[in-house]
Amino acid sequence: MTSAALPRVLVADDEPANILLIAHALKDECEIVQVASGTDVLERVILGDIDLILLDVVMPGPDGFEICRVLKSSPITAGIPIIFVTALDERRDETRGLDAGAVDYITKPIHPAVVKARVRTHLELKKARDLLEQLASVDPLTGVANRRRFDFALEEEWRRTRRAGRWLSLAIVDVDHFKRFNDRHGHLAGDERLRTIAGALAKSTRRAGDLVARYGGEEFGLILPEVEPAMMLGVIRTVLNGVTAGSGAGATTPGQETVTVSIGAVSAIPPRESTLTDMLAAADNLLYEAKASGRDRCIHLDMGTQRKTTVNRTAPS
Ligand code: GH3
Ligand code: MG
Ligand code: MG
Repeated sequence: MTSAALPRVLVADDEPANILLIAHALKDECEIVQVASGTDVLERVILGDIDLILLDVVMPGPDGFEICRVLKSSPITAGIPIIFVTALDERRDETRGLDAGAVDYITKPIHPAVVKARVRTHLELKKARDLLEQLASVDPLTGVANRRRFDFALEEEWRRTRRAGRWLSLAIVDVDHFKRFNDRHGHLAGDERLRTIAGALAKSTRRAGDLVARYGGEEFGLILPEVEPAMMLGVIRTVLNGVTAGSGAGATTPGQETVTVSIGAVSAIPPRESTLTDMLAAADNLLYEAKASGRDRCIHLDMGTQRKTTVNRTAPS
């Protein structure tokens, strides 16, 4: 939910008069998006900007219960609170609606004050939930994902790619001589540089499904599902160059000295008999190898062919 803008409420009803009544009740505190069928609901929510849905049950095409079930079964839309607003006033209808995953059930005729109060309550709950989710998954210093989110995402992608026989690439990025940077320029400049590096990593890995996380102090983790070895080598080159770009070869301001990173990276179609720990351990070993062989580089392993490649930063001209 965007903080400045009004929350966006999708109202689905095949009777325009009902939508008008609801829109009027909510006009001061919500932005209303109107649709007239269940299929329209599914098409509209995909845009990802709906905060709550008021859903009629009896509509042309799939009914509200069915739409609710579909929305709740997808991780992309499962978090949107759904309130039924319906003429079906039997206890078993209400039970069916709540069983389908709705947070509330309002029966027609519509009483604007009731709709307004219930919508307000559920929007507040959603806002609190979103905030908790954000606090639990984002690293406050750099704004990228935190270790907790990284662990969850990696576990999930690893399972998924193993099941589907797809490629999974993974990188661990460690800042070189960062203790020295802190000693020279102070911890605040160090923090600022970590933010810059996180930004550069996020910029280099922006396909849907890619994840950048702060793995530990001055270490970051990258998860790139569906990325095979040759493509991963390209991403790595972009990362090595992106991290140092703008941080200054030749810059004279204190704290602007070039900071490089070392990377251990692996690509694999996770084999049935392997474990995620094997993959992480391999990336970790390659990181140490990159450090030991001179830093400012990546060593990548294709776990299928066991082919090892060292990737260097393109030297500044
Ligand atoms: P190497 O090239 O071997 O990785 O050397 P290094 O100095 O980067 O590694 P080492 O593990 O010895 O030190 C890591 C440093 O990272 C020490 C610590 O002060 C710094 N660091 C870790 N987290 C933060 C942070 O949140 N902010 C700042 N400013 N520095 C941090
Ligand atoms: Mg480290
Ligand atoms: Mg380091």
